[in-house]
Amino acid sequence: MSTTLATALLPTYPEPRVAFVEGDGVQLTDAAGRTYLDFAAGIAVVGLGHRHPAPLAAAHGQLDRLWHVSNLFATDPARVLAQLLSERMGGAHAFFCNSGTEANEAALKYARKATGKRGVIALEQSFHGRTLGALGVTGQPGKRGGFVDAGATFVPPNDVDALHAAMSEEIGLVLLEPVLGEGGVIPLEPEFVAAAREFDALLAFDEVQTGVGRTGTFFGFEHFGVTPDLVTMAKALANGLPIGCLLVSEHVAGAFAPGDHGSTFGGNPVSCAAAVAVCDTVDDELLAAVRANGARLLQGLAGLPHVVEARGRGLLAGAQLDVPAGPVVDAALDAGLVCLTSGADVLRLAPPLVVDASHVDTALSILEEVLNA
Ligand code: PLP
Repeated sequence: MSTTLATALLPTYPEPRVAFVEGDGVQLTDAAGRTYLDFAAGIAVVGLGHRHPAPLAAAHGQLDRLWHVSNLFATDPARVLAQLLSERMGGAHAFFCNSGTEANEAALKYARKATGKRGVIALEQSFHGRTLGALGVTGQPGKRGGFVDAGATFVPPNDVDALHAAMSEEIGLVLLEPVLGEGGVIPLEPEFVAAAREFDALLAFDEVQTGVGRTGTFFGFEHFGVTPDLVTMAKALANGLPIGCLLVSEHVAGAFAPGDHGSTFGGNPVSCAAAVAVCDTVDDELLAAVRANGARLLQGLAGLPHVVEARGRGLLAGAQLDVPAGPVVDAALDAGLVCLTSGADVLRLAPPLVVDASHVDTALSILEEVLNA
């Protein structure tokens, strides 16, 4: 294994063990020509698989026409994408940026402006990003480290009593991930979300990881039967090109005025053109397949050695292990399967949404071998 793969990069990540040079559907190829089954999808980003023809053609077409003009001018891709997302949410206004953390910053600012309140309730073990505002409302003290103080009251996921106890006059925003993607793959329960909706505060879903079909519905919140006020998105929206988005529901619209927020690259025509193609491709048929293959994956995971619990929604699956997850992910990579951790002892699988049953079975048999070793 080369030790020089990342030597000129700031070491904010562990040194990579593999360099990939090509992707095709659910397959990756490394620099030595070895192929891998991709059950990580670039951390739940490449939802339609590598080089999916729809966003590929849309991005190519846009690259050949216009790359950037700034938000001082209108472009079709951003306008069309905003319209599509608004329709999916049942009436909303979009602000485009470049990442999940930026989308959450926009949500935090919006909530302050709309409610005049600075208090936030968020979840223990949640993850909302690495900029100081988003990090402050991230419920993982280790990640906040010496960088920023807690910027929220944190409650355990699915603890309705703790949620009630945390609510006060000062709270303007309740910020929830439908499934805690980085915090152990913990799906929220409908009763907990319903309790959050009852408060006189804005309800925001961070759909950065769960959005765009990952859980078997376009938005993860659709499992709960509630209407949120704010939704943040990023990751899979443009299948790998950088994009982030804050959606503000019609019924709480109007708080931001010109000058309140902005982003030079936000709404980039190439990313937005790819995202339009992604939204058009994530149809009912694909969502049904995500639900079916996700159920198959969870059922298979539950029967593997060292798996204490299998949980998740759609194709965001977690296996709680009775051993550390890091070495399992490393061994799986050596065996040709790319997967992820979610905390110290949870194995996370977030394959492209286009996997079929045979990909799921292959991934499970590689994991069985690795966990039996
Ligand atoms: N919110 C959630 C739920 C995430 O999973 C992530 C990234 O993993 C983020 C926010 C931050 O997104 P980004 O890394 O694009 O800033």
